[in-house]
Amino acid sequence: MRFPLPSRSFSRRHHEKGKKNETLWQGSFQILQDERTEAIGEFPRRVQLGDVLGITPTHKILASANGIAEQHEENNQKYFKLTQDGNLEPKALYLEPKLDSNSFLNLLEKNGVYSLDFPQTALWNYLSAFAKVSDSELVLSTHTNRISPNYTKILQTDFAKEIIALEQFLSSIFPNKKIISFLEPSKNKFTSKYKFPLGKPEYFLQKALKKNIYGEIQSDKSKMFFLGGETVWHLIRALYYDIPFTKRHLAVECVDRSGRVDGRERYFLISNGQSFRFLDKIFFKKYKYISLNSFDKSSRIMMRSDEYFYNIYEDADLILSVNHPKKNLELPCTECNDCDAVCPTQANPQALIHNRSIFNIQSCIECGLCDFYCPSGIDFRSKIKLAKETQSEFNQQSEHSHA
Ligand code: SF4
Ligand code: SF4
Repeated sequence: MRFPLPSRSFSRRHHEKGKKNETLWQGSFQILQDERTEAIGEFPRRVQLGDVLGITPTHKILASANGIAEQHEENNQKYFKLTQDGNLEPKALYLEPKLDSNSFLNLLEKNGVYSLDFPQTALWNYLSAFAKVSDSELVLSTHTNRISPNYTKILQTDFAKEIIALEQFLSSIFPNKKIISFLEPSKNKFTSKYKFPLGKPEYFLQKALKKNIYGEIQSDKSKMFFLGGETVWHLIRALYYDIPFTKRHLAVECVDRSGRVDGRERYFLISNGQSFRFLDKIFFKKYKYISLNSFDKSSRIMMRSDEYFYNIYEDADLILSVNHPKKNLELPCTECNDCDAVCPTQANPQALIHNRSIFNIQSCIECGLCDFYCPSGIDFRSKIKLAKETQSEFNQQSEHSHA
């Protein structure tokens, strides 16, 4: 066997919503602060799971467990240290919500739920914008921005009855709004084709509803609001089980000596601030290197022996590899046309190389497929990032000159 698999009991323990025993995770947590974080209350102090440790303009930082919370600073990095002496997750007891739209938003705020489709957006702010905009529509999808895990399967397994209740609940508290749901298997026409980049909101809306709103979603022009599968999963935990946003699924991929990716889906529900030492108990030591969130050439590469603590707001995927992921050499474009062929939105990425045609910047949903498939290893991500930054500076300048 080339790759180790977690034992069945281990997987069960960490994938199910009602945990019996979590001794493996016990210890201390380091929850990172950023420069905008305002610490709340006195430190050190005893905290309960879900208590607020700090707030930022976009989210609340909650305690991941019962224990003693302290504030620390090391190498100019501030963090909350939490020494756990209690549970990581409350018992999952189903609660029938009796809420109006305001108390619903307050509950999401109390539980610190994020919109994982639009990172850096607190879900209560996002849904409060949906409530205010006239003629707005809310789309519920099981698809996410991530390749793994498969939230279509997770939602329909973990929360089959809750997704139906959620559709009815949202329609009842937002009676003048249109709620379009693809959560139930009978309503999800993409169930059998769980494919990246269907979780990109603009792409999903184009495919599912024929709405072409590239570049508009989340702008003040948009009347479409989108909750993807991962966000819905956390929303259901907050709404029906009063569980705070302190845990998230971390997908783990392994890359072997010859650079091949083991395609098995492997993910763990882990707590904000938890040490990555748990990997030592599951994966062979030969996977010496870790990169977070991307195979991208520019992503941060760490040694497995480095101490790292999970950041729930940033870390979704982790790649373990045997060899150091070397910087790919860019070769000249052979005009094979693969980049244009794989682009799901016909943004014409090849135009970024040759300047013979126009790159459709508004259509690009930054799915990364052109970058991944280019046989010459051309760094499309950086080129697209630069093109978008240049475009946004240009837009700002023209807004100033017209003001
Ligand atoms: S995939 Fe790469 S090599 Fe092929 S046309 Fe696009 S940029 Fe050129
Ligand atoms: S240009 Fe590249 S990153 Fe943008 S949508 Fe097309 S394939 Fe995805």
